[in-house]
Formats: sequence, structure tokens, C-alpha cells
Amino acid sequence: MKKGLFTSVLILLTFNLFAQMVPEETEWYAPVPPKVNPGEGPGRAPSDAIILFDGVDLSQWKGEKGDAPWEIRNGELTVKPGTGSIMTRQHFADVQLHIEFRSPDPEQHHGQNRGNSGIFLQSKYEVQVLDGDHNPTYVNGMVGSIYKQQAPLANAYTRNGEWQVYDIYWRAPLFGTDGQLESPAMITVVLNGILVQNNFVLKGDTPYIGYPTYTPHGRLPLMLQDHGTEVSYRNIWIREL
Ligand code: MG
Repeated sequence: MKKGLFTSVLILLTFNLFAQMVPEETEWYAPVPPKVNPGEGPGRAPSDAIILFDGVDLSQWKGEKGDAPWEIRNGELTVKPGTGSIMTRQHFADVQLHIEFRSPDPEQHHGQNRGNSGIFLQSKYEVQVLDGDHNPTYVNGMVGSIYKQQAPLANAYTRNGEWQVYDIYWRAPLFGTDGQLESPAMITVVLNGILVQNNFVLKGDTPYIGYPTYTPHGRLPLMLQDHGTEVSYRNIWIREL
């Protein structure tokens, strides 16, 4: 009985509290979000994006030694096997990234040797690029995976030789002044319009051998991997968040 009475009083008090409120109490007007104009057509860069590759030049990129050594043909950027990975001159933390890729066609190899490249957020955390067309491999290393940490929610790859579209939403890890991890990295990945990583919390970096670990860092370049295959890229743009 006492409990019932208490609940009734609580409901009455709550009702009374809300009854005294006005709508304006839960509305605010500042800060006003910036105006960003969408790109002209699906996948096109919005007005505030940094264009990292538009089919013409590689001025936004560098190689392991000097300028970026990969090739531009027909508006596509293609890995030049053996020349090493390339990275942006600009350093980033939280970003929205749009990038399109294509595996070589025909491609004779299988598994991890077929259309392998990679998109390394902050040079350390790999979203796998791999041919996903009838190409079995370990699932936490297939296309759409966070390399060796998390398999994708689906295989959203289309066909070998066709362009694939990644949209990646990245929250950088934060470290305290003592170097301790304050908040881990988190990623959402959409491949060809299909959600393949849903707010996945990373356990650390994405090494080929061994377990993930975090090492403190600040803003770092975006990196594209040379894994010995002539993977092509196009329409790369990024928004700082
Ligand atoms: Mg890779």
C-alpha cells in the first residue's frame, strides 16, 4: 500500500512538473550549424570537402620518399606495386571520407593477394580493400572488415572489375597527457550504400601479425596501401569533423 501511494505521488509530481513547462524550455537556437551544400549528384563532394583526388593530380599526397609515385591514368589513381604506400600531406583526426576503388580485372590471384590494398585512417587503422567477388579468405580480413578486428556485417561487394564505393565515418582515439587511452577509435563504414561496420569500437591498430594495441598519437595522414596489386582509386574527398 505504501509503495502504491508513493508511486501515485511521484506520478502526480512528475505530471505537475511537466505541466508547468513551456515548449521553449527544450528548444535552442545556437550555435547555428554551418551551411554545407551537397555535391551535385550521389557521391560528389559537398562544398566543405577537401578534395584528395579528383582524377588530375596527386598534389595532396606524398610517398614514403618524396612525391607520391603511383600512376594516374584516365582519371584513375592506380597503385604502382613495389613503390610503397602513399599518404596525405595533411593530417587528420575525426573525418568523413568518401573513396571509390576497383580491383584489377581480370585478376588471377586469390584470397589476400587478389585486389588487396587498404585505407588506413590516421595511417594506423585499416579498412580492408580486397576483391570480394567469390574470393574466400578469413572474414576479418575480407572487404569491409576492420583488418583482423571485425568482419563486415555483409559482403556488399559487387563484381570483380567494377567500381566500389566506401563512405567511412571516423572518430579518432583520444589520449590523455600521460599517454593513456581516454576514448578508443570508433568507425562506421558503408560499402556501396550498405552498412558494413556499425559504430565499431577499435581495439587498437591493425597489424598483420599480433594483437591490436594503442600507441598515443595526434592528427596523422590518411594512408593508402601498396599491397603489390594494381588497385585503382577515384573520387576521393574528406570532410573534417
Ligand atoms: Mg590490405
